[in-house]
Amino acid sequence: PFDVLIVGGGPAGSAAAVYAARKGIRTGVVAERFGGQVLDTMGIENFISVKETEGPKLAAALESHVREYEVDIMNLQRAEKLIAAEHSADKLIEIQLASGATLKSRSVIISTGARWREMNVPGEQEYRGRGVAYCPHCDGPLFKGKRVAVIGGGNSGVEAAIDLAGIVAHVTLLEFGDTLRADAVLQNKLRSLANVTIITNAQTTEVLGNGQKVSGLAYTDRVSGNAQQIELEGIFVQIGLLPNTDWLKGTLNLSPRGEIEVDSHGRTSLPGVFAAGDATTTPFKQIIIAMGEGAKASLSAFEYLIRDGK
Ligand code: FAD
Repeated sequence: PFDVLIVGGGPAGSAAAVYAARKGIRTGVVAERFGGQVLDTMGIENFISVKETEGPKLAAALESHVREYEVDIMNLQRAEKLIAAEHSADKLIEIQLASGATLKSRSVIISTGARWREMNVPGEQEYRGRGVAYCPHCDGPLFKGKRVAVIGGGNSGVEAAIDLAGIVAHVTLLEFGDTLRADAVLQNKLRSLANVTIITNAQTTEVLGNGQKVSGLAYTDRVSGNAQQIELEGIFVQIGLLPNTDWLKGTLNLSPRGEIEVDSHGRTSLPGVFAAGDATTTPFKQIIIAMGEGAKASLSAFEYLIRDGK
């Protein structure tokens, strides 16, 4: 069996793997797609000490750092089920894979990440990274002085609009429902800003572009039924971040949003099972945060192994 088995090979899982392997314990990583969301990212400018890099470059660097150590990387493998130590015959934690194989470990770190909910309208995929963005902390500065829209009037959408209003020329916030769903304090702040327009009852229907990048957005006014267009350079989609935790339902405590509940040490509700990164309740989904949390979960797992004499 493994001493530490990591499920997920993004920034959190990679950091966890390096920290575990450096303790000289048997470490494995199972990943559906090693590199994670980083593979889908164009420019990265907030990974401190690296002024600028690209997603695929950082993903390759993550993998080569992990491969410096004796880590068993099982790429292109999806975990489907976790069986707690107390329910397994030999008191080891079991991870069942879609391939039918079962892996056993004394401790497990879950770092299966998350994915942004998409609008599913024409043009969204085509202009992803060319005007369509999902992370204001990451891509906001790229739209300095330009016009952008934020899709979604929940807390994350309204926070994004406030944040962006300080950087860009103008922000249009579009909400599908007839009112914003964000907390009143955020709504008040948003309404106090001179360069923000709020449009409710707006169903986005298409991302418009010139073949190179985004040039506008089309929506339907759900009250009048009229089709409308806005000229702009950027669209931030803020309609939800979905944690990749469906496979864990019923095995450990998840928040109402499906995030794995972790304490300050990265412990979950199951003994010997730790979690890190975007899949957890830890706020602010960023590479540098996921890596720090992965390192922390790994050290917690190591402490668990030595304390419990596992
Ligand atoms: P992920 O990167 O999501 O990795 C999850 C891993 O788990 C993957 O290997 C995946 O294949 C695997 N996995 C999932 N389910 C299973 C399963 N059932 N079995 C096995 N493996 C599984 N952050 C920044 O800090 N700066 C940026 O500039 C930036 N730009 C971004 C741009 C885009 C377009 C996106 C989508 C995100 C961006 N982010 C950025 C956010 C950043 O990518 C994430 O915060 C970070 O990747 C989270 O790391 P993670 O390891 O928790 O999860």
